[in-house]
Amino acid sequence: MHIRDIFKTTKTTFSFEFFPPKTAEASEKLYAEISKLEAYKLAFVSVTYGAGGSTRELTHDLVVRLKQHTSLVPIPHLTCVCHTEDDIQHILDRYAEAGVCNILALGGDPPSGLDGYKKADDAFQHAGDLVRFVHQHGGPADSEGFGIGVAGFPEGHPGTPNRLKEMDYLKQKVDEGADYICTQLFFDNRDFLDFRDRCALAGIDVPILAGIMPIASRHGMTRMAELAAGARFPAKLIRALDRCNGDTDAVRRVGIHYATQQCSELLDQDVKGIHFYTLNQSTATREIYAGLGLRDSDSI
Ligand SMILES: Cc1cc2nc3c(=O)[nH]c(=O)nc-3n(C[C@H](O)[C@H](O)[C@H](O)COP(=O)(O)OP(=O)(O)OC[C@H]3O[C@@H](n4cnc5c(N)ncnc54)[C@H](O)[C@@H]3O)c2cc1C
Repeated sequence: MHIRDIFKTTKTTFSFEFFPPKTAEASEKLYAEISKLEAYKLAFVSVTYGAGGSTRELTHDLVVRLKQHTSLVPIPHLTCVCHTEDDIQHILDRYAEAGVCNILALGGDPPSGLDGYKKADDAFQHAGDLVRFVHQHGGPADSEGFGIGVAGFPEGHPGTPNRLKEMDYLKQKVDEGADYICTQLFFDNRDFLDFRDRCALAGIDVPILAGIMPIASRHGMTRMAELAAGARFPAKLIRALDRCNGDTDAVRRVGIHYATQQCSELLDQDVKGIHFYTLNQSTATREIYAGLGLRDSDSI
């Protein structure tokens, strides 16, 4: 289903993000886990793309498998880093052949440990260039072209300290053909709500989905602070985690409670969608559904 049709028919979208596992065994486990999520009537599930295309085939295979064997709508991530125009054309052709009709178009982070990588050699310098290219592709036969998502950063992207310019770049991505924005994870809803207001003032009128990550462990939080560079961890959250005194179950419960509160407030604020960074674990997210009193995504 095209993302524009999903937004037309769904009041609030719920979606999950997964990364493709590296071994066949882990893949089977994840696939079984994802299949169970069909009951939650998710708007879509998205599958990440490893730095510099390192999961190119794995992302493709998981996406196509989900498309062919489940009722879920899979959205592959695609990044500019380390790709030529031919690479991207080939990837899009394969998705189109498989009937995959949506793409999340991203800049991508440079792969670590890849000697000699030069950004200037990439065919697409910014996600906006990739959006333009994807938009020009016809998409699957009989479709209205690929539905396109882009990333947004409520607390700002560290690569562009000038927040006014950053908003101009985001507007350019939307003007090039993006249908929606999915945000980086955040822990203070005020950052998201202010970002949403700033987008409206800049004339950005596509749906904005809020990225939520339930904290499952102190270690996971530390890792996320690295990956989601710039994300702020509010004192309220750190105080609550400190009160757990190292009890790992308590940390998990606090993380789920905190994310549930965030979701509840965002729903009160008429958020268009909530995108869960699941880190391939859906248990926490299911508990959030339960905490919100939702049987599935349609019961909102
Ligand atoms: C929802 C989501 C999913 C993600 N999934 C993945 C994934 O699967 N794989 C992965 O490798 N990474 C992923 N990332 C990380 C993301 O690729 C990086 O954070 C990247 O640095 C920024 O991506 P972008 O799409 O915003 O890039 P861009 O839009 O290209 O922005 C990157 C930087 O360039 C600036 N910029 C943008 N346009 C211009 C312009 N025209 N001129 C000058 N400067 C410009 C921006 O302000 C920003 O500072 C994801 C991030 C999010 C929020």
